Amino acid sequence: MARILGGIATSHTPTIGFAVDTDKEADPVWAPIFKDYEPVQKWLADKQPDVLFFIYNDHVTSFFFDHYSHFALGIGEEFPVADEGGGPRKLPAIKGHPVLAQHIATSLVADEFDLSYFQGKGLDHGVFSPLSLMWPHADGWPGAIVPLQVGVLEFPIPTARRCYALGRALRRAILSFPEDIKVAIVGTGGLAHQVHGERTGFNNTPWDMEFLDMLADRPQELLDITIAQYAERGGIEGAEVVMWLIMRGALSKEIKRIHQSYYLPSMTPICSVIYEESDATEGLDTIAAHKARADAELAGVENIAGSYPFTIDRSVKSFRINSFLHKIIVPSTRKRFLADEEGALADSELTEKEKDLIRRRDWRGLVQYGVIFFLLEKLAAAVGMTSQQVYAAMRGDTVEEFQATRNAQIVYSVAGDDPGKIERNDD
Ligand code: FE
Repeated sequence: MARILGGIATSHTPTIGFAVDTDKEADPVWAPIFKDYEPVQKWLADKQPDVLFFIYNDHVTSFFFDHYSHFALGIGEEFPVADEGGGPRKLPAIKGHPVLAQHIATSLVADEFDLSYFQGKGLDHGVFSPLSLMWPHADGWPGAIVPLQVGVLEFPIPTARRCYALGRALRRAILSFPEDIKVAIVGTGGLAHQVHGERTGFNNTPWDMEFLDMLADRPQELLDITIAQYAERGGIEGAEVVMWLIMRGALSKEIKRIHQSYYLPSMTPICSVIYEESDATEGLDTIAAHKARADAELAGVENIAGSYPFTIDRSVKSFRINSFLHKIIVPSTRKRFLADEEGALADSELTEKEKDLIRRRDWRGLVQYGVIFFLLEKLAAAVGMTSQQVYAAMRGDTVEEFQATRNAQIVYSVAGDDPGKIERNDD
């Protein structure tokens, strides 16, 4: 079974990554940052976690307000460094852990946390700023990451109590993972700072110290503090510190605080903390029942004949081809595809098998491969086919045979009136 090694709390200010990239270690103003993280580096080197469960927020880099969610779980196979305006930092991409992510998702949903899932997105300084100082990466990262993006930028944001409850559920999720892996929980953000408006430059070190003591020993007392009170005491942007409560909630109730550092050179305190579990078995007695309850929700769904439920593992495996087909809704991409399909396929990163499935309009094969139906519908619309042609092909029927099973013999598609689209051919 998976084990939780402990938790790390860290600021994620871009200052840390900047210090790493510009080799500031010998500069006395910057040196404390490096010194403060040595215990974190050593702890990670000693404990050798296989996976870091990394709680962070994106800073309007990969997540925008066209669709903003509270808890977005990273399910992908790999996460590159995001470009935040001047090109991405020169760091290797880090592996994800889709199998663990799927298990955590199943467990958290059973515990009534409504997640969103992401892949194919870069991670910004919320992850890579502290990570680049914490974990060696000259020859690639020593382990994998499961990122959890918390939407703390658009109010209302998740409450302190909700974050802590999510952490408790996360503990059940990780401890019930059947593989024998070691997981460390990383909570990022904070501490007191504000970077906008006339209050720019606000800090509050006395509150930071109080918060750190409460987080370690009396986290319950942090749960009824409102977001407005966090913002008042710790700055509007500093209210992101509720993410640390997710990390704290995932640990045993009693913890050993083995490291704490705090340095405030400019706008944001650079703080790092390590908590070790004082009771790694806490909660294990209820794990079997929890896992049974979580697994029950989808038990047997894979046995429904002729059906291909779009699970996280299918979504990850077929992300490349689903992404290609999704771009058909972009007029310029669609136009290119329709004018020169072979050229568009050749320019893509699709495998030969994937290209062939699309080329042959193998509707059943595409679904079996992992393409979701609603992208077949789009491809069909673009190439002038009806939805009924797709339905019939998936069943192995002719259109006439399929239509005979319906109450009325109508045809339709999701195509609009793009003048570039291929005219519909009902045969
Ligand atoms: Fe942040």
